[in-house]
Amino acid sequence: MKSNFAIFIKLLFVQCLAIGCVSQGFDFFYFVQQWPGSYCDTKQSCCYPTTGKPETDFGIHGLWPNYNDGSYPSNCDPDSPFHQSEISDLISRMQTSWPSLACPSSNGSAFWSHEWEKHGTCSESDLDQHGYFEAALSLKDKVDLLQILKSSGIQADGRSYSKSSISEAIRGATGYAPGIECNVDASGNSQLYQIYLCVDTSGSNLIKCPVLPNGRCSSIVDFPSF
Ligand code: 5GP
Ligand code: 5GP
Repeated sequence: MKSNFAIFIKLLFVQCLAIGCVSQGFDFFYFVQQWPGSYCDTKQSCCYPTTGKPETDFGIHGLWPNYNDGSYPSNCDPDSPFHQSEISDLISRMQTSWPSLACPSSNGSAFWSHEWEKHGTCSESDLDQHGYFEAALSLKDKVDLLQILKSSGIQADGRSYSKSSISEAIRGATGYAPGIECNVDASGNSQLYQIYLCVDTSGSNLIKCPVLPNGRCSSIVDFPSF
C-alpha cells in the first residue's frame, strides 16, 4: 500500500516535469503601440518607410511575451528565422499598421524580423510566425487607440494632457488600465511614446496587466502631432 502511494507520487512528479517542459515559456503578452510623432521628435531623425509617410495613427511596435514578475524571455529560438514568405498575405496590412520609422528608410522587414526573432520566437508554443503577426494585426484593428483618445478629447495637437486622463480614457474603452511609456524631448518634456496593453497567451484577448512597465512619464505629458 505504502509503496503504491510512493509510485503514485513519483508518477505525478514525472508527469509534472513533462507538462512543465511543454507548457508555455511565458505568462502573457504586452501588445505595444508607438506614437510616431514622439518617436520622430525624440529620435531627432526618423525615416519614413520606402512606401511613404505612415498614417497619422499609433503603429505596432511589438507583441512581447512576458513573465508576471516583469521579466521577459528573448531570442528563444535561433533555428526559427523570420521568413517574409510565410506572411506574404499580411504584408499590406503590416505596411499600414506596423511601419518602421528607424533610419535608413526601409520596407519594414528588418523591424518585423527583429521583433520575430527577439520576441516572437518566445511564444512559438502558442503562435507560429503567421499566427503571431496576424494576432498583432487583429489586436491593432480591435483597439483603435487614436479614436479612443479622441472620444475623450485627447488629440495629437502638441498640447499636454494628464497621464491619468489618458489612462482613464483607455481603461474606460477597453476595460483595462494600460501601461503608458514616455520619452523626453529636447526641452526636457515628457511625451507620450508607447501604450502597453496586456493580452492572454493566445494572443487574442485583452487581460488585466499582471505588472505594468515603469513608463518614465511625469504626470503631464505632451502629445505631439505627426
Ligand atoms: P527600452 O529599454 O527602450 O524600454 O526597451 C528596449 C527593448 O527591450 C524594447 O523595444 C523591447 O524589445 C524590450 N523590452 C523592454 N521592456 C520590455 C518588457 O517589459 N517586456 C518585454 N517583453 N520586452 C521589453
Ligand atoms: P526593440 O527595442 O524592440 O528591441 O528593438 C527595436 C529595434 O527595431 C531597434 O533596433 C530599432 O532600431 C528597430 N526599429 C525599426 N523601426 C522601428 C520603429 O519604428 N520603432 C522602434 N521603436 N524601433 C524600430
